[in-house]
Amino acid sequence: MRVVYFFQVQIYFLLIICSACESTETDKTKTDKIIPESQTKISTKYSKDFLLGKFDYRTHSDFVLVSEKWSDKEIYLQKDTYIAFEKMANAAAKDGIPLVILSGTRNFLEQKVIWDRKWNNLKTTTKDEIGITLKILSSSSMPSTSRHHWGTDFDVNSVEDSYFLSAMGKKVYSWLSSNAHNYGFCQVYDDKKETKRTGYEVEKWHWSYMPISTLMLDAYINQIQYKDINGFQGDELASNSSVKIIENFILGISKSCRK
Ligand SMILES: [Zn+2]
Repeated sequence: MRVVYFFQVQIYFLLIICSACESTETDKTKTDKIIPESQTKISTKYSKDFLLGKFDYRTHSDFVLVSEKWSDKEIYLQKDTYIAFEKMANAAAKDGIPLVILSGTRNFLEQKVIWDRKWNNLKTTTKDEIGITLKILSSSSMPSTSRHHWGTDFDVNSVEDSYFLSAMGKKVYSWLSSNAHNYGFCQVYDDKKETKRTGYEVEKWHWSYMPISTLMLDAYINQIQYKDINGFQGDELASNSSVKIIENFILGISKSCRK
């Protein structure tokens, strides 16, 4: 009798264990179907504050200080952006092309200082606030909407068109145009007249690390709404039909960078 009872108990426990295995497997399959892996990565990795530049990159664990070999300023970039930049800059140096970073990550507060200063200066000369907004956007980003918030974008060598028309500037730009894509970088603000994109003017100095910035742009479009863009002079104009900062500027990048 005892032997029969022992086997009955064993079979009972085996049944419990097997049914537990089966339900775990079924639940996992169900979850995979509901939330694709790519979406879970985007929604969990990039918080709204991070996308809007509302954090301190100096203390953020994903950011590193750029070596003085590549810049004489205190500049931070996301680690993977910086690793790729160093590979590119070393290759460029071997070809006689110097690359110096002038600007990297700027957070919301730093962009707000730039924006509000320009706004207050222009406000003394005109009451046309849409005109003021568009004038500032011809050379600066609106706080909460700058790709410089992300640590994936930087400016190299000069932010003047005249430099890129000089002999050295032409050599640098030609090298970047031919080689930057091999390291993951793309010129997001190319010539609007040629490519028909909207938004910022051409910036031959501004390069973006697409393996991360593409994910961040997708996360931005998924998570950020106009009500999240605020805290600076004229912020209510971000959604104005003459501005439409998300549609015209955030999404106004070169199509060749979106492939
Ligand atoms: Zn830039």
